[in-house]
Amino acid sequence: MAILEVNNVKKSFGTLEVLKQITFEIERNDVIAIIGPSGSGKSTMLRSLIHLEEIDEGSIIVDGNPMVQDGVYSKPSELKKITSKMGMVFQHFNLFPHLTVVENIELSPKLTKKIPVKQLREKSLELLKKVGLSEKADVFPASLSGGQKQRVAIARALMMEPDILLFDEPTSALDPELTGEVLQVMKDLATEQMTMVVVTHEMGFAKEVANKVIFMDDGKIVEAGTPSEVIENPKIDRTRAFLQRSL
Ligand code: ADP
Ligand code: MG
Repeated sequence: MAILEVNNVKKSFGTLEVLKQITFEIERNDVIAIIGPSGSGKSTMLRSLIHLEEIDEGSIIVDGNPMVQDGVYSKPSELKKITSKMGMVFQHFNLFPHLTVVENIELSPKLTKKIPVKQLREKSLELLKKVGLSEKADVFPASLSGGQKQRVAIARALMMEPDILLFDEPTSALDPELTGEVLQVMKDLATEQMTMVVVTHEMGFAKEVANKVIFMDDGKIVEAGTPSEVIENPKIDRTRAFLQRSL
């Protein structure tokens, strides 16, 4: 069974149709790269998956549980349960500046789960180690580089033990020399079979790490398939034109 089913999703902002009948499925352990020009609806799609946006029509089913079915959302308690299965990493990190690294990482579980403080600290330090930032536990985000901030954001998302991790252009705000360290952490997660949906302009990453690529343009999925199908041998002119501009 698919871990995520997206069926005929439509969304408008006012009169602007941003998602036009989007349909796709994600299997457990998939790494999906979503590519496409700016304004094509990639962020809106991703935000809809975690209920930061509400869609107008269609269905989103997470691990068999409807978040929204034919445009009708499940009740709040159900929604909370469903969205808690997903974590999101944003382009601009969204760390709290007044909290230390370890406090940032522990905030959500502290608020939503009853875990003893000591156990929480063990887990947060373990995740900081995983992203290579053990020595930064007690500093404030302002003293970190962009790449370090994003690695903290990834650790924070992992703290909630999500079944699916969503990334919205996680390296787009970084200086080029800092993208590698973030992509490496994401590669490690893929190797550990984390299910991931990654909106990205990093074609190298999409080719190397993703097992499926979705090309979006103008609110639609124009082409989808393996990286070799979509990136190396695009069938559709619009995909080809986009790739020529991005490579
Ligand atoms: P992408 O991530 O592919 O660049 P977005 O999903 O951010 O695309 O945006 C798709 C379209 O929706 C754009 O035209 C954008 O201006 C518009 N849009 C996004 N968010 C909003 C919003 N909150 N209100 C109005 N329009 C929006
Ligand atoms: Mg975007």
